[in-house]
Amino acid sequence: MSFIDNLIANTIRADVRAINGYVVAEASGFIKLDAMENPYRLPASLRAELGERLAAAALNRYPVASYATLKERIRAKLGVPEGYDVVLGNGSDELISMVAMATARQDRRAVIVAPVPAFVMYQRSAQFAGMDFVGVPLLPDFTLDQPALLAAIREHKPAVLFLSYPNNPTGNLYDAADMAELIDALGDTGIAVVDEAYEPFARTSFMGHLPEFENLVVMRTLSKLGLAGIRLGYMSAAPALLAQFDKVRPPYNVNVLTQVAAEFALDHLDVLDAQAAEINAARATLAAAMAALPGVEVFPSAANFLLFRVPDSDAACAKLAADKVLVKNMGKMNALLVNCIRVTVSTPEENSAFLTALAAALNK
Ligand code: PMP
Repeated sequence: MSFIDNLIANTIRADVRAINGYVVAEASGFIKLDAMENPYRLPASLRAELGERLAAAALNRYPVASYATLKERIRAKLGVPEGYDVVLGNGSDELISMVAMATARQDRRAVIVAPVPAFVMYQRSAQFAGMDFVGVPLLPDFTLDQPALLAAIREHKPAVLFLSYPNNPTGNLYDAADMAELIDALGDTGIAVVDEAYEPFARTSFMGHLPEFENLVVMRTLSKLGLAGIRLGYMSAAPALLAQFDKVRPPYNVNVLTQVAAEFALDHLDVLDAQAAEINAARATLAAAMAALPGVEVFPSAANFLLFRVPDSDAACAKLAADKVLVKNMGKMNALLVNCIRVTVSTPEENSAFLTALAAALNK
C-alpha cells in the first residue's frame, strides 16, 4: 500500500471510508429538476437593490455574532411564536448535524429514528455522530406505520425522531394527530424534529404547536422558497432546549452575504410567496398531465416536487438525461420506491419540456 493509502487506513474512520459522498449530479446544459429549487429568481429591480446592499456589507468583519436583526426578521415574518428564538444554520443540513452532535452520547449508543424513505441526511448525520439510525418503513401509501413507530419509540428510546412534513422524497404530509401522538410518546427521553423544508408549499406547520410540546423542534430552510444559493436554515424550540443546540453551532456559521441577502429577501417575502403559489398551481397542472400518460402513477404531493412511478425508472431516467432533463431516480433508494422518480415542479415551459421528454421516454 502507498503512504496515502496507509495514512487513510490509519486515520479515517472505517464507516466513512466505506461510503460514497453525497452525490450531486452535474447539471450544466440540463433542465434541472432534481433538487427542488425554485426556478424563479428575484425580479431584476430587487436584484439590483440587493446588489447595492451586498456591496455595502463589511466583508472584512465577521458577522454580528448574535444575528439579532436576521433572527428578529425570521421571527416576525415566518410565524415563530412569541417568546421563541431561532438557531440559524448553513442550510438545514447543518442544523440536522447539530441536532445529532448535541444528542450523541459517549456512554451508550443513542438512536435516531425516522420513517423511511426520508431525507438521507437524517441517517448520515446519525452515522457521522456515532449514533444508531433506525428507519421505520412507511406503509405502501407512504403514510406513517403508527404501531411500528410507537413500538420503535418504546424499544429504542430514541434521542431524536425526525419527521419530514411534507416528506422528501414522497411529497405527502403525515397525519398531524399521528405526529402529535408520536411527539407525546417520546416524552422527556426523546426530541421530535419536524423538518418543514417544504412548508412554503404545504402551508401547514407545527411551528404554532411549539408551546404545546417541550420536546418539539421545528426546522425550516429558505432553500426551497427561492434562496437555495445562500444556504440558510433555522430551527425553533423551547428556549432551554434551543440553547443546547446553539452550543454546538460553529461560530459565525452564517456568513455576512447570506445575512444581508436573507434580511433583504424577508423584506420582500410577498414576492417569494407569490412564486410558491405559482409553483403550487403548476404542480396541479403537471400532476394531472403526468397521470394521463400511460403507465405513470403520480403520488399526491404538498411540496414543490412530484414522486411518480413508471414501468422502468432506470430506462426512463436515462432517456430523460439524453433529452437533457435531470430528475432524481429513486428506484434503488428504498423497497417502497421501486421504479419511482422525483421531479421538481418548475416553470410552465420547463414542466412542459419535461412532460414531452417523459412521454417520449415511455414510448420508446
Ligand atoms: N430537509 C429536507 C426534508 C430536505 O429535502 C432538504 C433538501 N433536500 C433539506 C432538509 C436540506 O435543505 P437545506 O440544507 O438546503 O436547507
